[in-house]
Amino acid sequence: MHPVAEVAELVDAHVSGACTSNCVWVRVPSSAQEQSEFLGCSLHLLAMQTNQVAIIGAGITGLVCAVHLQRAGISFDIFEAQDRVGGRVRTEKLNGFTLDVGLQVFLEAYKEFDTLLDYKALELGYFDSAAFLACNGKMLSFINPLLHPLEGLSALLEPWATLKDKALLGAVFIDSLSAKPTHVSGVSTMQYLKNRGFSATIITRLFVPFFGDIFLDRTLSPDSSFFLNLFKSFTFYRACLPAAGMEAIPAQIAATLPQAHIHLHTEVDSYTLAQEFAWVVDTRPAAGQEHYFGTEILYFTASAADVSAFPARLFVQTGPGYVLSAAVPSAIQPAYAPVGSVLMSITLSPQARSLGDEKASHNALAEVTPWLAKYSQAAQWHYLARYKVPMSLPSTTASSPATGFAQAGNVLQGGDAFAYPSLNGAAYSGRKMAEHIAKASLVK
Ligand SMILES: Cc1cc2nc3c(=O)[nH]c(=O)nc-3n(C[C@H](O)[C@H](O)[C@H](O)COP(=O)(O)OP(=O)(O)OC[C@H]3O[C@@H](n4cnc5c(N)ncnc54)[C@H](O)[C@@H]3O)c2cc1C
Repeated sequence: MHPVAEVAELVDAHVSGACTSNCVWVRVPSSAQEQSEFLGCSLHLLAMQTNQVAIIGAGITGLVCAVHLQRAGISFDIFEAQDRVGGRVRTEKLNGFTLDVGLQVFLEAYKEFDTLLDYKALELGYFDSAAFLACNGKMLSFINPLLHPLEGLSALLEPWATLKDKALLGAVFIDSLSAKPTHVSGVSTMQYLKNRGFSATIITRLFVPFFGDIFLDRTLSPDSSFFLNLFKSFTFYRACLPAAGMEAIPAQIAATLPQAHIHLHTEVDSYTLAQEFAWVVDTRPAAGQEHYFGTEILYFTASAADVSAFPARLFVQTGPGYVLSAAVPSAIQPAYAPVGSVLMSITLSPQARSLGDEKASHNALAEVTPWLAKYSQAAQWHYLARYKVPMSLPSTTASSPATGFAQAGNVLQGGDAFAYPSLNGAAYSGRKMAEHIAKASLVK
């Protein structure tokens, strides 16, 4: 709700006056300065309603923090600049298609969400625990033998790595068993792989395209603990998509919160709030755009006689090209496309991102069409949409992963950049901040 409407509801609509410390206004402010003063007054008024915590941002971090505060009996207000909750988790609907803004997946391994989400209501559709590796005109299969034993064992014979590399995967598996995403080893993923003795072949054919696509960073700079934890997650669990799109996840969490305490269209700063609330939880991006990895996605559709023939797995480009990866989201989650249609997504390489829509689509399709030809024979792909997401994942390794946040006075700054770059990292940060506030409240 807009602050104007909010204040109008909170106070007697006939009261008006000058903006002193206990003021209330009901006149709609016109100038920028008036609006800023007005916002200050509105926030002050909200704080006076005895809410103890102001949360900046209704992304996963802010929403999860709010749920844990609610459970601890601590009142809060969430201020969100946009007209929707979810932050970076965003889904758009177009002509009956469900388009996530950037290919994004939920992992069953995200334990932070176990007490927050009703998984059944999300009607999850699952990826295979496997990937196709496009390699010098061939399509190699990498398949997790634990979750797909028959196919996985035969895929072990494919030439995506040397025998030694394949044996070394066992060592990574053992390392991964004790991995914690909140631990920082100080060693990048790439360095870890090299230290372990992997050949350039498997690094280029498997680790760089597959994990680089998840990190949005093909240099594999994230900390090896984060990588090992992901490796463990992918070994034992599958990735999935909710029927209504990824945004159903934050929407479901937000629905458990008092709606009157979620203030959309309300851009705030922590300095103002820190004067009025006992605590401020700030989940805005911790750094500028240059500290984030971006991504770009194209969506295409085609009619197909047998939409179920498409594989529910990721296709990754192991060499140079216009494409980093492709997927058929409607094979993973049939609700993403109308009956009789297939939805295909292509994640563009940095080289393709500077191209206009027509050229980028043309070049990307030319690269991907042979990958899918087996399933879609003469399918005519039609362009649906393109999304550019410049600030997708923080590029740095965690700044304070053990705590999940940084503190300055009564302001806690959190988010995935303060834990690890994922939905689970954001949820971890949100929970940790709520626990910190709850603990401090008990001490008082
Ligand atoms: C394209 C893409 C793909 C991804 N893929 C995956 C994936 O496959 N798996 C995975 O686990 N994670 C993935 N992620 C990462 C995951 O989405 C993020 O880690 C997580 O959503 C971060 O949540 P957050 O709340 O910390 O930040 P955000 O979602 O950025 O939330 C911050 C909120 O603060 C609001 N805000 C900013 N300034 C103000 C202000 N002044 N006043 C009020 N509000 C403000 C913003 O509008 C936003 O809603 C992906 C992200 C993107 C973008």
